[in-house]
Amino acid sequence: MSQLYDIIIIGTGPGGGTLAYKLAPSGKKILLLERGDYLLREKDNWSSKTVFIDNKYKAKETWQDKNGNPFHPGIHYNVGGNSKVYGAALLRMREQDFGEVKHHGGISPEWPIRYDDLEQYYTQAEHLYHVHGNRGEDPTEPRTSAPYKYPALSHEPRIQELHEDWQKCGHKPFHLPVGVMLNEQQKEKSACIRCSTCDGFPCLVNAKADSQVVCVDPALQHPNVTLLTNALVSKLETNASGREVTGVVVERNGLMETYKADIVVVSCGAINSAALLLRSSNDKHPNGLANSSDMVGRHYMCHNNSAMLAISKRPNPTVFQKTIGLNDFYHASADWNFPMGHISMIGKQDMEMLRLGAPPFAPGLALDVVAKHSLDFWMTSEDLPDPNNRVLIGKDGNVTLAYTENNLEAHKRLAVMLKSMLNHLGCEEHLLPTHLYLGKKIPIAGTAHQCGTIRFGRDTKTSVLDVNCKAHDLDNLYVVDASFFVSSSAVNPSLTIIANALRVGEHLLDRLG
Ligand SMILES: Cc1cc2nc3c(=O)[nH]c(=O)nc-3n(C[C@H](O)[C@H](O)[C@H](O)COP(=O)(O)OP(=O)(O)OC[C@H]3O[C@@H](n4cnc5c(N)ncnc54)[C@H](O)[C@@H]3O)c2cc1C
Ligand code: SF4
Repeated sequence: MSQLYDIIIIGTGPGGGTLAYKLAPSGKKILLLERGDYLLREKDNWSSKTVFIDNKYKAKETWQDKNGNPFHPGIHYNVGGNSKVYGAALLRMREQDFGEVKHHGGISPEWPIRYDDLEQYYTQAEHLYHVHGNRGEDPTEPRTSAPYKYPALSHEPRIQELHEDWQKCGHKPFHLPVGVMLNEQQKEKSACIRCSTCDGFPCLVNAKADSQVVCVDPALQHPNVTLLTNALVSKLETNASGREVTGVVVERNGLMETYKADIVVVSCGAINSAALLLRSSNDKHPNGLANSSDMVGRHYMCHNNSAMLAISKRPNPTVFQKTIGLNDFYHASADWNFPMGHISMIGKQDMEMLRLGAPPFAPGLALDVVAKHSLDFWMTSEDLPDPNNRVLIGKDGNVTLAYTENNLEAHKRLAVMLKSMLNHLGCEEHLLPTHLYLGKKIPIAGTAHQCGTIRFGRDTKTSVLDVNCKAHDLDNLYVVDASFFVSSSAVNPSLTIIANALRVGEHLLDRLG
């Protein structure tokens, strides 16, 4: 079977879904290929046990680490990709993140574009993904050309108290930018009901600004856009010169099909996009498609992330907790000449979620007491691009993720800062640090913030993509998921993926005429 399209987009997460949305009004014939199905709306969407213990919505895959140890990656194959379960904290990278930054663990390299090149697309991305926020509170916030379209999500009383306590201590907490369709001014019109099962859960009422709801579904309203689900792309074929992708090989319903397009865009997520290129080797591309630089799959980053529960003396009855952020330690400071990272909250932890991390969490403490009293923090520090941290394809065709943590001193110091800030606020002296994030006990399995494996740049020897995210080695192959990142910064990746997809979309519209 062979069909001709103007553009094929592989993957419907924030990268691919947003690009489809941008290109849909052009009238060009667009095919979206998604290996997963629609994530079913059902009561289980909001069950902690189903989501975190039974892992109902997680991919049933086993990958290997660098020592050959198997692990189950925390990824999700469905329309909307990982954004169906994300926490929707949608932050811009800081202006300095686009330049070279000196870290304790090494250098975070500069990007081939500046913050100003992305600014207008960040604004569009915030509007498209319903980001609620308040400009001017976050001292590290970069220059912006427009206010947030939606007002900041209000803090519930316990978080408001934390906000004010931190302010009294001279800190600068801010309302975290979050993409949900909450209307607090006219509650009767609000799609979002502000529930406790958001971060890590699918939204049963489709009120989370994920890429299916805000991009893929609207794109499909255009008759020129087609989506095939359960369509696993297993290989990309090229013409004899190797300069053009001529076939997209798909496994669907037990059959092999080949689709053709003038332009092919890969957006399978940073690990799977690299895996697809590596699996698509041929005579002209013996080390994998677009891989003359030997950079495909390298420089894998995923952040140094930790959850930290602060067990407060007083109960924490907060329902929607993810409303506060703190970037006071984002850049180098007077006390330490290197960046530490970003602090925010995670969704309120309940007993089921805590059960997964029970041994390190709760020596001698009943889980329900911990759950009722904890303030649940999330810390993100930058991990640095190391060529040896890479995606490899094993002999069995499966993914091996070779990853060695780096820049850890920054992360340790961030934890110390957070603890000291909380010790002054009536929390118990001991906090309970853990690498548990949404039910994942094994750190390498926490692939949520994966990026960097097909990076863009101006030098064909050190990058795979050019500044427009087109492969240096091919004329019609693009990549628009988190693979293109040059560094990981210390903010959540999605808004940058979305903004870049809008930017690349504009380039493609020009190219297609
Ligand atoms: C629990 C959780 C919480 C998170 N919270 C936040 C947050 O608060 N803020 C934030 O910014 N980010 C957050 N993230 C990260 C965010 O979800 C990702 O950065 C984002 O989804 C990445 O977008 P992407 O387009 O690069 O890839 P993905 O979202 O991974 O999309 C890739 C798509 O490609 C499909 N695909 C893969 N391989 C193939 C193939 N061979 N053929 C066809 N289709 C294929 C997949 O099924 C998927 O739909 C979170 C992630 C998780 C898991
Ligand atoms: S808080 Fe709102 S967006 Fe999030 S899951 Fe609940 S209803 Fe959906």
